[in-house]
Amino acid sequence: MSMTTQTASDLVIRVKEKFQQVFGDSATLTVRSPGRVNLIGEHTDYNHGFVLPAAVDKAIYMVVSRRSDDEVHLFSFDLDKAYTCSLNEIVPSGLHWPDYLLGVVQQLQALGLSPGGFNCVFGGEIPLGAGLSSSAALECATAFSLNELFGLGLDTLTMVKLSQKAENVFVGVQCGIMDQFASMFGRKGQVIRLDCQSLEYTYFPFRTEGIRIVLLDTQVKHSLASSEYNTRRQQCEAGVKLVQQHHPEVKSLRDVDAAMLSAYVAPADEVIYRRCSYVVEENARLLAATEDLLRGDIAAFGRQLYGSHEGLSKKYEVSCPELDFLVEKVRDREGVIGARMMGGGFGGCTINLVKDEAIDGLVEWITPLYRKAMDKELKAYIGQIEDGTSLV
Ligand code: ADP
Ligand code: MG
Repeated sequence: MSMTTQTASDLVIRVKEKFQQVFGDSATLTVRSPGRVNLIGEHTDYNHGFVLPAAVDKAIYMVVSRRSDDEVHLFSFDLDKAYTCSLNEIVPSGLHWPDYLLGVVQQLQALGLSPGGFNCVFGGEIPLGAGLSSSAALECATAFSLNELFGLGLDTLTMVKLSQKAENVFVGVQCGIMDQFASMFGRKGQVIRLDCQSLEYTYFPFRTEGIRIVLLDTQVKHSLASSEYNTRRQQCEAGVKLVQQHHPEVKSLRDVDAAMLSAYVAPADEVIYRRCSYVVEENARLLAATEDLLRGDIAAFGRQLYGSHEGLSKKYEVSCPELDFLVEKVRDREGVIGARMMGGGFGGCTINLVKDEAIDGLVEWITPLYRKAMDKELKAYIGQIEDGTSLV
């Protein structure tokens, strides 16, 4: 398991060497920006609720230096590809990967700041598109690097917001703020309770001694994901409208309780009722889960994860057979403390809290079971909670 740190420092060395080789320049700055997990609080962000993310020990490493002209020279270590453009014309590259960096440059310019020309090499160990938010890590790495390199004087929250906006506006993905927030604000051994309504945040201790986060990647992404996501958002809004007829002060599901749902939504629409109940319950579950952490009761915390999965699967209906299979199988497995699907649903990973000594056995046991049942190869990522974006 100490392999993780070994690999990370190897990667930093190799990215630095690549920088030297590509740019022949050693006056550099190196930044580490991690991926994230969300322990509980799914589909709550757009309902002005709570999420409970943490940064992990898988990161992007970015090496940068100033240039004397106004050019931007980017090099992807993992793809072994370069991209160059001028600061005076920051437009989508047509290549996808440079856009995460260029989007941040554009947002800095939109704030009236003038980062200068720079050289950049970056490489990462965050699996792409697996739900660990490699994209947010890349944006946050860029914002942090340029802030340091040009002394822009930005505070962390501003960098979070502009990184999110880069993804929204430049890459064209309508993500919420959680991913960038967790990558930047993460702290070793702690989870962040983020209030998506006020952006207030609180750290809670996550005693990870002897416990790791294991992500089991279904390796599927069902095509329903984006249309169903939009439908869920509409159903939640429809629920809010029904309550508003009696409580005009209600603005989102954050202001709604179970009694209001039974009184005004249940009689009108059974499906909308189930969707809204899930969201209201998930917020309550998350708050209870943070109490569990304060008491140091990781077993109780784990049960909240199963509760979350149950709600996502049965009431919110965003799971799929692969995710349900993985959660059901681990439920009675020795050493597994909790599990649920993570992310928007219809594929992606389950997040599992597993005792160290049980991890190898778990992965060896479930991989062939999954193959047999689903005819697909499972992937497992093992991690723990680490600090957010920082200088190396
Ligand atoms: P995720 O869930 O990991 O955020 P996304 O699809 O949002 O998945 O972002 C993945 C994209 O981010 C990749 O397609 C690539 O363009 C970019 N990216 C992330 N990490 C790297 C990396 N190490 N090297 C190059 N591009 C990367
Ligand atoms: Mg992403």
